[in-house]
Amino acid sequence: MSATVVTGIGELVTCAGSDGQTPVLGAVVPAGDRLGIVVDAAVVVEGGLVAWVGPGRAAPEADRRVDLNGRAVVPGFVDSHSHLVFAGDRAAEFSARMAGAAYDGGGIGESVDATRAASDGELRGLLRKRVAEMRALGTTTVEVKSGYGLTTTDEERSLRLAREVTEETTFLGAHVVPPEFDDRTAYLDLVTGPMLTACAPHARWVDVFCEPTAPRAFTEDEARRVLLAGREAGLGLRVHGNQLSSGPGVRLAVELGAASVDHCTYLTDADVAALVAVAGTTVATLLPGVEFSTRSPYPDARRLLDAGVDVALATDCNPGTCNTASMPFVLALAVREMGMTAAEALVAATVGGARALRRRDIGRVAVGSRADLAVLEAPSHDHLAYRPGMPLARALDLS
Ligand SMILES: [Zn+2]
Repeated sequence: MSATVVTGIGELVTCAGSDGQTPVLGAVVPAGDRLGIVVDAAVVVEGGLVAWVGPGRAAPEADRRVDLNGRAVVPGFVDSHSHLVFAGDRAAEFSARMAGAAYDGGGIGESVDATRAASDGELRGLLRKRVAEMRALGTTTVEVKSGYGLTTTDEERSLRLAREVTEETTFLGAHVVPPEFDDRTAYLDLVTGPMLTACAPHARWVDVFCEPTAPRAFTEDEARRVLLAGREAGLGLRVHGNQLSSGPGVRLAVELGAASVDHCTYLTDADVAALVAVAGTTVATLLPGVEFSTRSPYPDARRLLDAGVDVALATDCNPGTCNTASMPFVLALAVREMGMTAAEALVAATVGGARALRRRDIGRVAVGSRADLAVLEAPSHDHLAYRPGMPLARALDLS
């Protein structure tokens, strides 16, 4: 097996704690050294895994040498929430919203129509292009949901295609009740019955859009039914919750031990306390690109971090409420708009995302972890939020 030594790393952020292994927590990062920074570092990669980490002057010999000339390296971003399998776009809806129209989740039907009409080849091409865009911006793991098919055939197809690009696939048949269903119970019967049976072999997770204030999304009882059926089929649990109101999503995610509850824009004190109690089990995943793109109030990340909640950041890349695949953009929003420090935002986008996916092999640079590295066209990780909108990060390709 051939080994590559990556040298000339001006600042290596390992996110791996002082023992070089334990991931730093997704909670408050009070000082820079919690990031596990190594200055003038080198990393040896062998067989796709990190084999050695340390100062460049002590680096062992390897078959091949890649010199980064003083650039910073951070763990590849873990985007733990995206909806990349869709056709068409909703740019007109976005512009209408910017002109004053309200968002209530209703525009999803338009993406459903376009997705159903697309061929396998078209959908595959769109999906691969989006994943390539993510890699070009430093993302090395992405979770991909279905949810724009909403028939058994189209949901199964979405997940089959998603599996071609990631192992982190999520069945979201319970995204909304599709327009052709007047009978919500009949649709739930489908989602928890034949659709689930067809989709489960291609999925690791099940998710539900729990939002009683959105007419086509799901109530607490409906969401519980979807999640319990998914668990019965062997899937892990994720929840879209508390996006548009302080609804039951967080409560439900905590009750059922979901890996993540995503959005968390409107939280009661009881929600925050419940999330603190399950830190280490359930992650609060914040998606500030959505608030940016819907001109809505941001989640209060500071409140969550100060309380001790595990926090992750992700894009929610989707055609309606946030059509960006850029984790650096999300980091910059988190720092500028949600009161996170640059270090906290980076931890949430790496270790936090890994926790939200219950993964220990990604999100940090440590011996034995996957060699998923992002290189920055910058001397330090601070530049990610300091130079918003600039193409600073890319996944390091060692193949
Ligand atoms: Zn989403």
